[in-house]
Amino acid sequence: MHHFEYRNAELYAEDVPVKAIADAVGTPFYLYSHATLARHFNEFSDAFRGMDRLVCYSAKANTNLAILSLFSKMGGGLDIVSGGELYRGLAAGIPASRIVYSGVGKRIDEIDYALKEGILMFNVESIEELRLLNERAGTLGKTAPIALRVNPDVDPKTHPYISTGLEKNKFGIDVEGAVEGYRLAKTLSHVQVRGIDCHIGSQITEATPFQDALKSLVALVEKLRDAAGIDFEYIDVGGGLGIIYGDESPPLPEEYARAIVDALKGTSLKLILEPGRVIVGNAGILVTRVLYRKKGKAKEFVIVDAGMNDLIRPSLYHAYHGVQPVVKARRNKVTADVVGPICESGDFLAADREMADLKSGELVAVMSAGAYGFVMASNYCSRLRVAEVMVKGDRFHVVRERETYADLMRGESIPPFLT
Ligand SMILES: *Cc1c(COP(=O)(O)O)cnc(C)c1O
Repeated sequence: MHHFEYRNAELYAEDVPVKAIADAVGTPFYLYSHATLARHFNEFSDAFRGMDRLVCYSAKANTNLAILSLFSKMGGGLDIVSGGELYRGLAAGIPASRIVYSGVGKRIDEIDYALKEGILMFNVESIEELRLLNERAGTLGKTAPIALRVNPDVDPKTHPYISTGLEKNKFGIDVEGAVEGYRLAKTLSHVQVRGIDCHIGSQITEATPFQDALKSLVALVEKLRDAAGIDFEYIDVGGGLGIIYGDESPPLPEEYARAIVDALKGTSLKLILEPGRVIVGNAGILVTRVLYRKKGKAKEFVIVDAGMNDLIRPSLYHAYHGVQPVVKARRNKVTADVVGPICESGDFLAADREMADLKSGELVAVMSAGAYGFVMASNYCSRLRVAEVMVKGDRFHVVRERETYADLMRGESIPPFLT
């Protein structure tokens, strides 16, 4: 459910015509719906009602300050994967005590920053990281709260680039290694064991992989308690719940919650959740304008002003995004590639798509672009990163300005030996 709907053949974001925003801010731009964001956050959190839980929204799906600030006001925590995300989270008003920190490659400066701020826990991904955390905490006169990220070796049946819980993936520590890791953690004087964690992948559209992963985690929790006397407070089940881009049928938050709550029966662990895509994915669209139409010998092209540098998911994962006219009219269908201005043949937003026969100058909405959209944008080809806009009811606000040419060269300089 989202709030991008047609009224009289014109696409609206809540109560604002998308065209009006395009007229005001130019194209391309990302457009987020406040009502959809809030609704998805609540739906997800409410699915776990009755449980002691903390919804740590996974920042990397969309780190815009306005979005982080909204979830902060709604009582959310944050799942971060870098010092930069910690900085943004704190700036958005999320208390450090509601922030968990995942990632295989935390740097010393990032670890120190998080220790000084006093985050809820580090989701530790290797034994070396565990030892470093102990050392840094000792140096800073702090205690490092930790969970080990366990790699349960389950297949999330998603795109290989976003599978993270398989033996061959770089993430987490295998189950046997985790037992050793917890034993070691107990002996480290500047480390406090606070929980256990896993995250098996993204855009997962079945409940079974989550159940399998949790089964393995709960067995490990029991083993740690019974065989090693190691107990803790939190179980962090990660994120990864998929959304509908096209014809997927992922579990609803209610079904997902039931699977998780069932798997945790009998434990008294507090639950941490790290949803990203499921909250923001369908709460955003990318609005772009058709620049040219062109018919090749083999294909028909709709050339738009947004490219793979603005939304890389189609190029990177062959991901599907719906493509819709902002103003519907009686028109023919074509089968075309929707492509951007970038000098790469991999620069497409839709391939071989049967779609409305849009003419140059018309506006196009690329749907389901709220997650892993703007955050993965780059300045490739010295293209300006686009504006981001949030709409609430009949109001809208630019929550990130379009970059300028001056922004492109910020921090660059010509060395004296070239002058
Ligand atoms: C990316 C990520 C998430 C969020 O994944 P979604 O598929 O967007 O829900 C959660 N936890 C960790 C550790 C991640 O890296």
